[in-house]
Amino acid sequence: AKNQGRNRYAFYTRDLTANAHQRMEMENDMRRGLERGEFTLYYQPKFDLHAQQLNGMEALVRWQHPQRGMVEPDQFIPLAEETGLIVELGKHILELACLQLAEWRTQHLAPPRMAINVSGMQLIGNKLVSDIRRALETHDIPASLLELEITEDFVMNQNREAIHLLDIFSKMGIHLSIDDFGTGYSSLAYLKEMPLDTLKIDRSFVSGLPENHHDAAISQTIIVLAHNLGMSVVAEGVENAAQQALLTEQGCDTVQGYHISPPLPAEEFSQRFLQRAPS
Ligand code: C2E
Ligand code: CA
Ligand code: CA
Ligand code: CA
Repeated sequence: AKNQGRNRYAFYTRDLTANAHQRMEMENDMRRGLERGEFTLYYQPKFDLHAQQLNGMEALVRWQHPQRGMVEPDQFIPLAEETGLIVELGKHILELACLQLAEWRTQHLAPPRMAINVSGMQLIGNKLVSDIRRALETHDIPASLLELEITEDFVMNQNREAIHLLDIFSKMGIHLSIDDFGTGYSSLAYLKEMPLDTLKIDRSFVSGLPENHHDAAISQTIIVLAHNLGMSVVAEGVENAAQQALLTEQGCDTVQGYHISPPLPAEEFSQRFLQRAPS
């Protein structure tokens, strides 16, 4: 019965046009999960290639489902986005991330900047601004410790509202990154309109390194582009030393991936990567 449940689940998450009843069932399941605190964050380090030390981390959501075990975000984020539940889930994720930063600071650890992933739908209207202000204030966290990873689809429209919103975040001192850079269908025009700090080279361009000459040309080009625009570059999905060596040679600033560490639960992350704050 358990297997059957899993199969049915996989079916309707992958096929979003599947029957409305099944999707509603999963949506309800997510809502219940939110109420019961089943969502948790894993943390993956970002490693500074120049300073050779940790310079950030990314929070990645997991769903500890009572029957299905640990569910990966690809299994539920798409439906959450489609149903709009991502707004509530995203607010919860923001809260969890700030709570964790506050806890580490209380323990006199010195967490570096924490990046959270933000879906386009969370950026409609001004709600996210007040949510973030409140979360930072409640947990007494400087805005400079927060980073938002935004996908290209949102910024490419270059609409005034989007620019205005990103300006607000930027003026607050929040770090802004474009996630999965190079995979969207957008022009590059938005890059000069928006107050962006970092481009993240998508894993699909990193996986072929160092041998694939086309991938190498793409990563080199993104690095040069970012630097010429005054931005920094993170390469994601770096899985081995050879990839890291080439990216270092190409002038990449930061790497993230299994070669440094997979995403880890908070406790493991802090034991492996966090230092005590100087007192
Ligand atoms: P993403 O933002 O591009 O996150 C990077 C994904 O690559 C993560 O998958 C991470 O675990 C995985 N990864 C990291 N290093 C490596 C590596 O060296 N090799 C390989 N093969 N994979 C690596 P994850 O955690 O399953 O998340 C998948 C996607 O789900 C994320 O892609 C992001 O788009 C979305 N997501 C995750 N957490 C959140 C969240 O809190 N909010 C929103 N809106 N989306 C989220
Ligand atoms: Ca991301
Ligand atoms: Ca990414
Ligand atoms: Ca990616």
